[in-house]
Amino acid sequence: MKPFLLLAYWSEHGREGDPASPRAAPYLIEPYAATLRTSPPGPALLAPEPCGGRVTPQCPVACWYKPGHGRLTASQALAVSCNQYFYQLSRQTDPAAFTRILTVLGVRGGSARVQAASTTPETMIGLDDRLRLSPLQVLNAYGVLLSGHASAEAKSASFPALARVVLLAGLALGADEGTSALAQQALPPNHLLLGKTGTSPALAGGRYSIAKTDGWFLGFYPRSEPVLAVMVYYPNGLGAKDAAPLGGRAIKLYLETIRQTDGP
Ligand SMILES: [Zn+2]
Repeated sequence: MKPFLLLAYWSEHGREGDPASPRAAPYLIEPYAATLRTSPPGPALLAPEPCGGRVTPQCPVACWYKPGHGRLTASQALAVSCNQYFYQLSRQTDPAAFTRILTVLGVRGGSARVQAASTTPETMIGLDDRLRLSPLQVLNAYGVLLSGHASAEAKSASFPALARVVLLAGLALGADEGTSALAQQALPPNHLLLGKTGTSPALAGGRYSIAKTDGWFLGFYPRSEPVLAVMVYYPNGLGAKDAAPLGGRAIKLYLETIRQTDGP
């Protein structure tokens, strides 16, 4: 959910005149990734308070990383999936902008038809169950995000282009040193992927449990121009620790199979 929120926030507050065109092909992203890693956080608005890990009067949501992530750029926040960074973003994002981005990403129908009026900051970072997306809906939305081509339903709406670049840089950084690192490490050297992990309240017997979690991983390969998507669901586990390494192994197996099929 956090990438969708970042797009929504940026569509509302971001600057015009972005360096990348909305239809920039994914292979244009890599040069930006290096720049974004070393540059300041972008728009001045996009500089939330540092993550302190624990609940404060300013941020009633704790981060999954208890020591706190400190100050982060948008790409870094995505790479480590910082709850406090994205909670602060959600407080400054109009729910209507969020639902509009879901339309741009092609998310619609069923329980995904969330109304702006009932969308809270918690909904926008996936902390409540108002917005329920099927795994396939999430995967499709990432597909739209990676391709940079808005859904047909979006009509005139489009992507905030720089936000998309920041997002892709975040997915790359997540694989290099963030929550998707165990997926990246399962691949041979120089085989780079884009990754995002998720940890959701466990669903068992039709009910959500707060005590247990399910782990998720989304991986796209190769990083420069993805043609392969992998989604891992790990019941009763964590995204980074349990689901991500399986995703990396799945892509590695795919590469080995392709190599055998292609012959020497
Ligand atoms: Zn954090």
